[in-house]
Amino acid sequence: MSDEMECMCQECGISSYFRALDLSYESAPGFSGKPLINNLFCPQCGGVLFLVGRIDEEPRYKTG
Ligand SMILES: [Zn+2]
Repeated sequence: MSDEMECMCQECGISSYFRALDLSYESAPGFSGKPLINNLFCPQCGGVLFLVGRIDEEPRYKTG
């Protein structure tokens, strides 16, 4: 059973997928009203990630 969350880099816009258990995020809304991840960073550029949502709840899309 998938329990992955989609996160997007607010620097380069790349989406990454992490297990929900691995994520820690701010309760206060950040970029675009989405919570900011505070324990993981973009694998491409090291930028700040924000939480898009659970994979099974949000439509998948790609940027870049
Ligand atoms: Zn990035």
